[in-house]
Amino acid sequence: MQADPLHILKSVFGYDSFRGLQEEVIHHVVAGGDALVLMPTGGGKSLCYQVPALCRPGVAVVVSPLIALMQDQVETLRQLGVKAAALNSTLSFAETIEISRQMRAGELDLVYVAPERLLQPAFLDQLARCSLSLFAIDEAHCVSQWGHDFRPEYLQIAAVAERFPGVPRIALTATADGPTQREIVERLHLTEGREFVAGFDRPNIRYRVGLKATPKQQLLRFIQEEHRGDAGVIYCQSRAKVEDTATWLREQGVEALAYHAGLDKTVRAANQDKFLREDGLVMVATIAFGMGIDKPDVRFVAHLDLPKSLEAYYQETGRAGRDGLPSQAWMVYGVQDVARVRQMIEASEASDDKKAIERHKLNALLGFCETARCRRQVLLEYFGDSCAPCGNCDTCLEPVETFDGTQAAQMALSAIYRTGQRYGSQHVIDVLRGQTTERVRSLGHHRLPTFGVGSDWSEADWKSMLRQLVALGHVLVDIDGHGGLFLGPDVRPVLRGEAKVAFRKDPSAKAKRSRDSQR
Ligand code: ADP
Ligand code: ZN
Repeated sequence: MQADPLHILKSVFGYDSFRGLQEEVIHHVVAGGDALVLMPTGGGKSLCYQVPALCRPGVAVVVSPLIALMQDQVETLRQLGVKAAALNSTLSFAETIEISRQMRAGELDLVYVAPERLLQPAFLDQLARCSLSLFAIDEAHCVSQWGHDFRPEYLQIAAVAERFPGVPRIALTATADGPTQREIVERLHLTEGREFVAGFDRPNIRYRVGLKATPKQQLLRFIQEEHRGDAGVIYCQSRAKVEDTATWLREQGVEALAYHAGLDKTVRAANQDKFLREDGLVMVATIAFGMGIDKPDVRFVAHLDLPKSLEAYYQETGRAGRDGLPSQAWMVYGVQDVARVRQMIEASEASDDKKAIERHKLNALLGFCETARCRRQVLLEYFGDSCAPCGNCDTCLEPVETFDGTQAAQMALSAIYRTGQRYGSQHVIDVLRGQTTERVRSLGHHRLPTFGVGSDWSEADWKSMLRQLVALGHVLVDIDGHGGLFLGPDVRPVLRGEAKVAFRKDPSAKAKRSRDSQR
């Protein structure tokens, strides 16, 4: 017989109610379904498999990549009276034997294992002699080859799907954009399962993105007018820029510290310590700063350079306002930054596939920067979450200047359609602008009716409009292939002229204008 999840939640964990999507996930898994769960850190992922593990008969096998994390979880569970153990390399032979015996005898509710162990044939044979309640795969993004935490052992986890087809599997992670989610589903054979995406919103953070004109002055004004005496973090791309910005801010009367990997270890530690202990300090840093730093009252996170991706942006800005009080994520960017990041991608040693993914990530980030929609919507949708226009981001508070881009959008959509929905933005733009490149000619695309219809727009205009179409969901990117563009599911009304498309006025032109007006 299966126990009731709510009863388990109350009697074992001492909580009154489920949070967010926990209840839905738990019911799905208790009923034997597979699931992919995306929740930000602190969202309550553990209960999503711990409660089902106690509801269903048998032992739950939890795959976790970090031994320290495993020990913590097991310790916490034991204190709650749950029969849990960790099988890992720190155990003696006798201890290992004992845990194995308990598993077979049905004396354990949960056993945590490192992914390597799951690959051992002997361990799998042993599992075959146990009654299993479920498999939980924590930090599931480790299966993604494109991610920063790739673990080859994770690729083998799919084998348990074949060996134990009747046992539900639940994969959990805090960081996975659309392509990574699809990769997890594919590699862990979760195609029959459900995806649960939840709680990425940080409603107390106000998102603002502006164009770079005189960045240091813009930053200083932002601090002086809105964050005098507040703690904040300022991210810069290079060490030199960190030093330079911190020194300059101090000269302007802002108490600023520097942090980057090139600083002497003791200086770095001292600065970090000071920032955490004292009130109202500003930390100017490279991305080396921030991992595992939990300062609740950081009131703003500023970016003087573009982050690497929207995931990085979300993570870095997420360090603001952990206490739930109003906070700001502020960023300025310019066309030069975009060129710099593009160059870095092209010059890197990465494979072509990986470069394609990085280009896509950059475009998604630029789509966010250039959007005329609610920024929070664009950000959350990138993670598969959603929200109503938030009223707490710059585009909501001060609607941006837009122009009616319906006709341009129709041109772009039909060019994508007529070229077969498989080419990247450069080729589509060549067709739109009537450029007879070798590729255009060899494919016969110069004979298409859309060839050259968009020649009034510059290449940069089209790039920006295509990114905005991606941010609007009208154009999708085949990221598993070679970055080919294809039409989104809801483009019909646009093509028929029943729905309008608003584009933000060309941001690079605007940046140029504001630079000129300062001369
Ligand atoms: P994650 O693994 O997603 O980072 P955890 O599972 O560690 O998050 O949960 C974060 C915190 O929230 C923990 O302290 C946990 O006890 C608490 N928590 C989770 N679910 C609930 C709930 N339904 N009610 C109250 N507290 C909860
Ligand atoms: Zn908004």
